[in-house]
Amino acid sequence: MTSQPDQTVRWRESDTAHHLHPFTDYKGLAEEGGSRIITHADGVHLTDSEGRRILDAMAGLWCVNVGYGRPELAQAAYDQMLQLPYYNAFFKTATPPSIELAAKLAELTPKGLDRAFFGSSGSDANDTMVRMVRHFWALKGQPEKTVFLSRVHAYHGSTMASASLGGQAAMHGQGGLPLPGFEHVMPPYWFDYGGELSPATFGEAAAQAVEDKILSIGPENVAAFVGEPLQGAGGVIIPPETYWPRVQDICRKYDVLLIVDEVITGFGRTGHWFASEYYGLEPDLMILAKGITSGYLPLSAVMVGPRVADTLIAEGGEFFHGFTYSGHPVACAVALENLAILEREQLVEKVRDDTGPYLARRLAELRDHPIVGEVRSLGLVGAVELCADPATRRHFEPLGKAGTICRDHCFASDVILRAVRDAMIVSPPLTFERTHIDQMVDTLRTCIDRTARDLGVL
Ligand code: PMP
Repeated sequence: MTSQPDQTVRWRESDTAHHLHPFTDYKGLAEEGGSRIITHADGVHLTDSEGRRILDAMAGLWCVNVGYGRPELAQAAYDQMLQLPYYNAFFKTATPPSIELAAKLAELTPKGLDRAFFGSSGSDANDTMVRMVRHFWALKGQPEKTVFLSRVHAYHGSTMASASLGGQAAMHGQGGLPLPGFEHVMPPYWFDYGGELSPATFGEAAAQAVEDKILSIGPENVAAFVGEPLQGAGGVIIPPETYWPRVQDICRKYDVLLIVDEVITGFGRTGHWFASEYYGLEPDLMILAKGITSGYLPLSAVMVGPRVADTLIAEGGEFFHGFTYSGHPVACAVALENLAILEREQLVEKVRDDTGPYLARRLAELRDHPIVGEVRSLGLVGAVELCADPATRRHFEPLGKAGTICRDHCFASDVILRAVRDAMIVSPPLTFERTHIDQMVDTLRTCIDRTARDLGVL
């Protein structure tokens, strides 16, 4: 492999000619000269085809929890590929890694979530969940309980069902989504929706919106409420502490299943194995992906609690659902080794006790900046809201411009973070040290200054 300039040019041309990227404006990408090509990575750094070393403050797509270049994970994949590269879990068969991983997840996840249904992505896990939950209510003799309730700005994936479940307006604007049977309520997003209310009072109001929606649809028609404990791709929306206890009570009151999507928040991201522990949630089902393998191989799981599992088992009959790669032995072997690394290196504790609080302190220093309206974080996931007037939380116009400018400055400074609207998002590997946090936050401040100047504010 070379990293000559002409090789980069050839890759870019070929990429533009043949490769349709996810979530990409194809015309825009071609006009801007094509993609940045990442050729290697180690620890918390990426290297591109021009030899630039880049600090990855997004852990890939919120997934490389143990960092890059782990020989143990490569070895686990190699060994498993030689021993048994593939076998399926259909027709009364199983493989040792899938059995061991299901048991390990049962041990790690909150009490009761003792059974795993495997897939390959967060999106397919959410589709599995939708089919399983509707099947469950049918078995219970309540087949009219089909409606799924979720939030505006939620992200649950890109398939027809998971994009319907999500609350991304741009996605719903294409291809006739959401499908029928998916309803959305206000997110617990104080910065945008809180108005004059205190965050605590607003949290209760956002929970009340869930109850109102259940009542307007009719509780007898509502299958489940689905939420990310904190909304990641929607802008790291961290709910006020008053929100989840009330939502959990409402779900119980109306016999609506509570389902948490921990695709981002699972496996230590928040300084807890699962954010459900932090928020005191006892979900009926939990969706897992990303950090389950630290992104080294595709894998997802729907963890199923006794309420649903006992009915599926007791009622009998086939659940007509599954994927060729459900329980893929190589992905499961890598997941087991990845979980062993998280435990051995006590990465969850490190985030909870050291780097998480340190990130919160360092981000808090940005609050005094004239275009910073709010900073928020939990563990190693955080957001910095850029806005025109911090006192009134008034946005720049058009929304998204400031974020894109700031994001591009960060990229040019060889730090990868993300902009969601005008919120600057960080979600680094859990192996990030304080020095990396310093570099990331210092760069972000410089780039926010540059953004303010570009917008004519400073
Ligand atoms: N749920 C959540 C909370 C996510 O953040 C994502 C992906 N960002 C998904 C589901 C979908 O996962 P995938 O891209 O693996 O399909």
